[in-house]
Amino acid sequence: MLNSTVASPVTYTDYFNDISQYNVHLNVFERAWMAWYAYMQNDVLATGIMSFTLHELIYFGRALPFIIMDKIPYFRRYKIQAQKMPTLSEQWACARLVLLSHFTVELPQIWLFHPMAQYTGLSTTVPFPSWVTMAWQISLFFVLEDAWHYWLHRALHTPRLYKMIHKLHHQYSAPFGLAAEYASPLETMILAFGSVGIPIVFCAITKNLHIVTMYIWIVLRLFQAIDAHSGYEFPWSLHHFLPFWAGADHHDVHHEKFLGNYASSFRWWDAALDTDIGSSCGNAKKRAANAKLEKSQ
Ligand SMILES: [Zn+2]
Ligand SMILES: [Zn+2]
Repeated sequence: MLNSTVASPVTYTDYFNDISQYNVHLNVFERAWMAWYAYMQNDVLATGIMSFTLHELIYFGRALPFIIMDKIPYFRRYKIQAQKMPTLSEQWACARLVLLSHFTVELPQIWLFHPMAQYTGLSTTVPFPSWVTMAWQISLFFVLEDAWHYWLHRALHTPRLYKMIHKLHHQYSAPFGLAAEYASPLETMILAFGSVGIPIVFCAITKNLHIVTMYIWIVLRLFQAIDAHSGYEFPWSLHHFLPFWAGADHHDVHHEKFLGNYASSFRWWDAALDTDIGSSCGNAKKRAANAKLEKSQ
């Protein structure tokens, strides 16, 4: 597959240039992808390093703007529970536990990912699938993960499981971005099945999934989880444009009240099964209306 003119490519750039010369039909991402696997000479390691690095970069990279916003008074107007601002030391303690869990629990599992992916037929080759294929598969994963999350998260709120497993995630009643994965290892495994396991089962059944689609899905799911925990509600937040999208408006209330609003991405399960406890916007409006009423009486 590698038509080499360079006697023996050594650096990643050598591989990239070599591949680019003979694969002009591939776009730059596909060439970079092919060069990475050729350069690594070990697919398990290549996928493992890529998956772990991507997760760390996206997780901490997406949480960083919220940490900065916490320090800028202007943004206080968008903070849902502005009376409970997280301190830097609180956020650092949270980040330490998340990092510990990433290195001890997640890293060994990431190493198993490539062999498992190969076993189920997950494609790692080029060219990548079309945007249309990626779009419908990712939309399906969002819907299925949301259902998984709703039921398992709701189960985690039964008294015994809450005490044994889920209590740790609820340490912060006013959440912040970094708290998205602040949870016991058991909870991480149970809920992560919705994000990682569902696409793998989908692939085992259909034999039609590319690892790039999986990566884009995981990145979007991480964005969703960190945004939902950010504690910030903006006039431009997605749920203002997509009314069934959950966001921080939905999940912040779950952390504040400990019950209800169990779904991750959408509002339909909570609405249909009467576990909807309102939204931060709705509750704030209700509080303001009640205060007005009290004053006029
Ligand atoms: Zn919960
Ligand atoms: Zn949460």
